[in-house]
Amino acid sequence: MTDDTRSSSAIGRAFRYYQSNLGLFIVLSIVLALALVFIAPHFAASLHLGGEIFLNLLKMIVVPLVVTSVMCGIFGMGDVRKLGKPGGVAVLYYLTTTVLAVIVGLILVNLFSPGAGMDREEAADEVAERQKTSLADKKLAISKALARETGLSPDQVRKVFPELEDQPSEWTGIVKNLVMMLFTDNLFASATGADLLPLIVFSILFAGMLTTMGSKVGQLTTLIEQANNALLSFIMLLMCVAPVGILCMVAGRFGVAQANDELISELINVLGYFVTVVVGLGFHALVTLPIIYWLVTKKNPYLFIKNMMEAILTAFSTASSSATLPVTIECASRKAGVSRKSSEFVLPLGATINMDGTALYEAAAALFIAQIYSAVEPSFDLSLVTQLVIAVTATLAAIGAAGIPEAGLVTMLIVLNAAGLPINYIALILSVDWLLDRFRTAVNVFGDSVGAAVVDRTLGERTDASS
Ligand code: ASP
Repeated sequence: MTDDTRSSSAIGRAFRYYQSNLGLFIVLSIVLALALVFIAPHFAASLHLGGEIFLNLLKMIVVPLVVTSVMCGIFGMGDVRKLGKPGGVAVLYYLTTTVLAVIVGLILVNLFSPGAGMDREEAADEVAERQKTSLADKKLAISKALARETGLSPDQVRKVFPELEDQPSEWTGIVKNLVMMLFTDNLFASATGADLLPLIVFSILFAGMLTTMGSKVGQLTTLIEQANNALLSFIMLLMCVAPVGILCMVAGRFGVAQANDELISELINVLGYFVTVVVGLGFHALVTLPIIYWLVTKKNPYLFIKNMMEAILTAFSTASSSATLPVTIECASRKAGVSRKSSEFVLPLGATINMDGTALYEAAAALFIAQIYSAVEPSFDLSLVTQLVIAVTATLAAIGAAGIPEAGLVTMLIVLNAAGLPINYIALILSVDWLLDRFRTAVNVFGDSVGAAVVDRTLGERTDASS
């Protein structure tokens, strides 16, 4: 063996080691990023650019990937008529886990009463201060912040979040908005706005039609499958730089907060609320979802979490289920033993409508606000009915939230409005929302992957890698 072949096989071995331990390297990069944030916050903040580049690399493949992967998922079923069972199971799973998450959120806030622990006068002062700005200004500020976070133009933000324009408080209005989100009059406009739901609807219908046309569209079907394979290989390539990208993303965002001296102080202000939501998210991710996974697949759920780690950590770093979608599909189908067809069909849909973490957060945050408001405004009755209204609207609001940063904050306007709470009180939780967003997005993505495994099982597929 020559020196050259020996060194190239050593490089090959090192690369394989790196790839198979990518999750560990990502954990290390997050630890390093957090250490940097406290040692050299300004330097950490300056890494923001690298994070943005990585985020854009992920986001640029989301739209083509959603279209090709959903279509391939449908092709994998063989015939559109076979879609009923997996589709039904997916929707049933989404609804069940979302409702369970909401219930956990409500129970914990009732139990810990973080709102009761807040200094009422301080809360009233803060709200009064914020009330000086009109509602229109508030909405403008939220849409500007969202435009900054998401990279969308303010116009696109208003399109993605119609709640910023008008907030229906009637059930019919809320449900109508949700249904309308499924359809678009312009597929390309949806694609440029990364408005995934209509793209998924189109892909399901179009691919379903193709499956009935047989050899007449053989080349088109092959082209879509090949494009999908190529995109998946591209994601694998991208993941090679994930530890660096994630280090920059985490260091950049946390660094900015720390450099402005906001990280700890803002957290302390609403510590009770923050801890309550994180405990709830932890319970959902480590108890509820693993039990469901185990009941359905009879496999070790914690091994499944380990196999999905790269996606979970990417979700934490990007705060976006949609941007994480390429990694989620990659991890589920290559590492966690979920079949390609289930991953491709269930995960894109899950990334846009299945948001357990967001639902839990919306219910908990709304109830937290209600606890404070009922003390400041004695005429407000924090009854069981109010809690029920919060539970139902939080479920709907989570379904309606897009998989982008802080989408849940905006759809929470619907919950507050329906429960008769002043939306200015959102000011109380605004400062830590970017941080909570990361935790809830991680839970959202994990919930989607458990959903894919559950659907897989009902299709009679095996989930060997996670046994
Ligand atoms: N950022 C979350 C997601 O992408 C949505 C939210 O704001 O809760 O899943």
